[in-house]
Amino acid sequence: MHKTAFSTIIFLSLTASVSALAQTAVRRPNILFIFSDDHSTQAIGAYNGRMASLNPTPNIDRIAEQGAVFRQSFCGNSICQPSRATVLTGKHSHLNGVTHNGAHWNGRQTIFPRLLKEKAGYQTALIGKWHMHPDPSDEFDFWKVLASSGGQGDYYNPDFNTQNGPERIRGYSSDVIADQSVRWLEKRDKNKPFLLMCQFKSPHVPRLPPIRSAHLYADTVFPEPPTLLDNYQNRQPYLSKHWMGFDVAKLAMIPPKNTGYKPDREHTKALKRMTPEQVEAWHRAYDEQVQKYYDVMNSDVVKDKAKLQRFKYQAMMRNYLRCVEAIDGNVGRLLRWLKDNNLENNTIVVYSSDQSYYIGEHGMAEKRWMYEESLRMPLVMRWPGRIKPGTKIDQLVQNIDYAPTFLEGAGIPVPTEMQGRSLLPLFAGRDVQWRQTIYYHYYTNGEHNVPRHDGVRTDRYKLISYYTDNSYELFDLKSDPNELRSVYNDQGYRTVREKMLIELGRQRGEASVPADVFAEPYVHRGKIHR
Ligand code: CA
Repeated sequence: MHKTAFSTIIFLSLTASVSALAQTAVRRPNILFIFSDDHSTQAIGAYNGRMASLNPTPNIDRIAEQGAVFRQSFCGNSICQPSRATVLTGKHSHLNGVTHNGAHWNGRQTIFPRLLKEKAGYQTALIGKWHMHPDPSDEFDFWKVLASSGGQGDYYNPDFNTQNGPERIRGYSSDVIADQSVRWLEKRDKNKPFLLMCQFKSPHVPRLPPIRSAHLYADTVFPEPPTLLDNYQNRQPYLSKHWMGFDVAKLAMIPPKNTGYKPDREHTKALKRMTPEQVEAWHRAYDEQVQKYYDVMNSDVVKDKAKLQRFKYQAMMRNYLRCVEAIDGNVGRLLRWLKDNNLENNTIVVYSSDQSYYIGEHGMAEKRWMYEESLRMPLVMRWPGRIKPGTKIDQLVQNIDYAPTFLEGAGIPVPTEMQGRSLLPLFAGRDVQWRQTIYYHYYTNGEHNVPRHDGVRTDRYKLISYYTDNSYELFDLKSDPNELRSVYNDQGYRTVREKMLIELGRQRGEASVPADVFAEPYVHRGKIHR
């Protein structure tokens, strides 16, 4: 080859790679991570769950329609703080230290937002529910986190901790969090890619809906889950002893004016935060409906256990879905903002919740267990050009995968200490070698009368180990999707049982779960009442 031609080729290829690099730098995608709290997949249209016919989430569904829905998406520890710590670190609870609510958060550990900033020049922000202790320090360029109620935040006129001290912002929680998010987006440095974690508190208890929503679902009869009146037979006795009933329904039932009903602590607290105008508007909007609730609760219905259960379920769903609607409306605002600012094409948009939730299944309104409803975690994702609209993904994914996904999306290597895997290969539509099992571990002992437990789930089977008393449950999710009968002692499932027990041991080892957590005494923050 002629010498000059050769150097020209080198020069050209160098120029090409330099400009490719420059382009990557310019085109690193923005990331809008929208998170909520206790949002059941049953109450998201894209999951085609029980409430889908009521069309509760048109905006969240649009993310899925224009991108992907993960149909087999799970958490690793079904409760608020642990799920959040896992999202940030890409690690299970025992390695990031946040095994239960109230555990200390070590903000110095490796987290994806800091890597995005340091390795790829992102500007980063978290606005809304942080919940961990202590508050962030330098995890994000900007943060404004819900402060009161132990970091849970309040529905009306929420308090925030910010880098400049405390701040109370007038308005309804989900509206305020979206307002603040848009404000940060407007003010950001437009020369840098951004990561915004917009984290709603809703629909976590006490589920006070917006004043404007009183007309919504006022006369709706919500479909009941088949397990609403579960008799808890054929499983370990723990489930039957749960403290997770529908009494949460009453939390949003602020007594109507001049009726003499005594408000409980939550009601008094909520009313105290509202301005006199908000209190008046609340009573105008809700008193008539809430009076009906108290009328039934003072009637003979309470003597019929099944009738009462069904009534409370309906009461709970009404406010649950009103809270969901307020989130969805605000998701719509954020999506519109992206579109209006020509950022739709180069922004990864994710909607997820720290865990899914029992909205009546097994007669519960809570999370924590490894049963399907709280093991799941909603996850929809849009990234134009990278994810084909209408993609449905059935591989088993978990919240340890979020950090690696965002890092790979931004073109940054994933640290080997992270336990999850980037989800990006799943979008390519070709066969990917993927995990066949997920590992789960709930560490809080005694709260809501739930014992510690861990377990493994494959596409078809689930083994739960209540290791504090060495008892197990095994479910065949194909023949028993509602988990009504443990087949652990069935002769016909002996081989499956042996395989799953081996798999549990293997997963504990692979996830580096320290042996001493299995030896910890029975009582931690409470004790199991049997
Ligand atoms: Ca939660």
